[in-house]
Amino acid sequence: MKSSEGKKFKILRLILGDQLNYQHSWFQNVDNDVLYTLMEIRQETDYVRHHIQKIIAFFASMYNFASWLYKNGHQVHHIMINDPENRQSLDANLNFLISKHGIEKFEYILPDEYRMNQQLADYCKTLCISTQVFDSEHFMTTRSELVEMFGDRKQFLMESFYRYMRKKHHILMEGAELPAGGKWNFDAENRSTFNKDLPIPEPLVFHHDYSQILEEINKAGVDHFGVANAVDFPWPTSRKEALAVMNYFNRKLLPWFGKFQDAMLTTSPSLFHSRISFALNIKMLSPTEVIESAITTWQEQPDLISLSQIEGYVRQIIGWREYMRGIYWAFMPDYKSLNYFSSFNKIPDWFWTGKTKMNCLHHSITQSLETAYAHHIQRLMLTGNFALLSGIHPDEVDKWYLGIYIDALEWVQLPNTRGMSQFADGGVVGSKPYVSTANYINKMSDYCSKCRYKRSERTGPDACPFNSLYWDFYIRNEALLSRNPRIGMVYNQLKKMGDTEKSVLQNRADYLKNHLNDL
Ligand code: FAD
Ligand code: SF4
Repeated sequence: MKSSEGKKFKILRLILGDQLNYQHSWFQNVDNDVLYTLMEIRQETDYVRHHIQKIIAFFASMYNFASWLYKNGHQVHHIMINDPENRQSLDANLNFLISKHGIEKFEYILPDEYRMNQQLADYCKTLCISTQVFDSEHFMTTRSELVEMFGDRKQFLMESFYRYMRKKHHILMEGAELPAGGKWNFDAENRSTFNKDLPIPEPLVFHHDYSQILEEINKAGVDHFGVANAVDFPWPTSRKEALAVMNYFNRKLLPWFGKFQDAMLTTSPSLFHSRISFALNIKMLSPTEVIESAITTWQEQPDLISLSQIEGYVRQIIGWREYMRGIYWAFMPDYKSLNYFSSFNKIPDWFWTGKTKMNCLHHSITQSLETAYAHHIQRLMLTGNFALLSGIHPDEVDKWYLGIYIDALEWVQLPNTRGMSQFADGGVVGSKPYVSTANYINKMSDYCSKCRYKRSERTGPDACPFNSLYWDFYIRNEALLSRNPRIGMVYNQLKKMGDTEKSVLQNRADYLKNHLNDL
């Protein structure tokens, strides 16, 4: 899409693929001196190997955004992946546009990724025209607000940040200090095991034919993995569809969201989860409108939606999401190389195929390859849990999570993976590692009854691998973990175990770690 051919402009404005904020002040008025540009470039398709649905969803959403700008009278130059003029890197394309259109000023929106932030800051230093950076007008906090809020304190607890956000934005509050219902946290009422008699509404999906986009991606030779039904593409790729997903969640799924947010079911990949993360992360929706609309729905139907459900949802958006962004900006670039447990193993090959005999991992990985989606507990307590227990290097784990999920952008993926899931930051995000034996997985899911491994056995060839790996993890990391008051119970149990039992468990775990590809 080139509404700009042969014309001169004063200002070039860059819109990155995750900056599709239809409500941004840039777009409120048409200025004929301004040229907007969006770019499909190999630099972005290739910095990690992505799931094919992720690439299609980004390209389609960018195309729809460029079309919307164009229809609203803005001047747009959308560089497509196979455009002969495409230099395939951000800097080279910007140089080309600046010289072609006689640009006098370059403007961009503050990127959320450290990598892109550095690149654009460095790029601007090479220019002899003026430059200006604008806020994304998306988040409810600034990049540095978390650090400012915690001051000199050593611990950055999400719960403290969440309460600060509730008070600051006056969300679910009774007066200035008191939380609605007298409690900040209703977790105890949430996170139940699944009630099999409860019908689960089908997720809201779309039916786009994006075969043309897939063809262009393949023609360009972009490497990718996973599967996509490009003639029946399900993800929201416009503002209208993003709003539809948000409203569908509020009406149909919110009543049970919190209660079953930790449940895992073979027959329902997303249960009562919103599937809103892609639309939110590329900014087609704002966090403020997401929580305001959910709160309005709750207020209209207090008999159907309890306070614990709405509180559970608000916590994810204004708590975890904003908190993770704050952690990212507080600790980058060092965060990206933290490896508290000095883990060094390679990720098993079946993370890329789903072909493992461990039923829980077979299901959640196959689902991820087929849909580019897994809900939080699948990411944390199945794949993440296994990777941590089996000592996979966090770089390998990051690469997998950043590539496979449709919502994966480094500012949110990295603190979730390296921090919350792998405890590679030594306890900045989580106060203890999220690991479990088969007990927890069996309690929260229907995977174990059809598994080749036996969930109640700890050793022997049929024993569930999670069991010995769990104990081995705590034994080998005793020096790093035993003083943590939140895991005192585990070490008390270990003290009661005889040396023979411990060494049998460790031998089994060593065998598993040496044969990860065969599990
Ligand atoms: P819901 O369960 O319906 O939750 C609603 C929204 O709350 C989500 O869309 C998301 O925006 C927000 N949210 C919930 N939990 C978190 C969290 N821990 N951090 C940030 N936001 C949260 N989320 C991403 O958006 N991108 C990622 O790359 C990503 N990687 C993850 C990796 C690991 C190892 C783990 C454990 C979690 C990761 N998450 C990531 C967080 C969470 O799993 C996803 O946001 C969620 O599964 C998206 O599905 P949903 O929209 O149905 O979420
Ligand atoms: Fe997963 Fe173990 Fe249960 Fe099998 S028995 S599904 S490997 S937790």
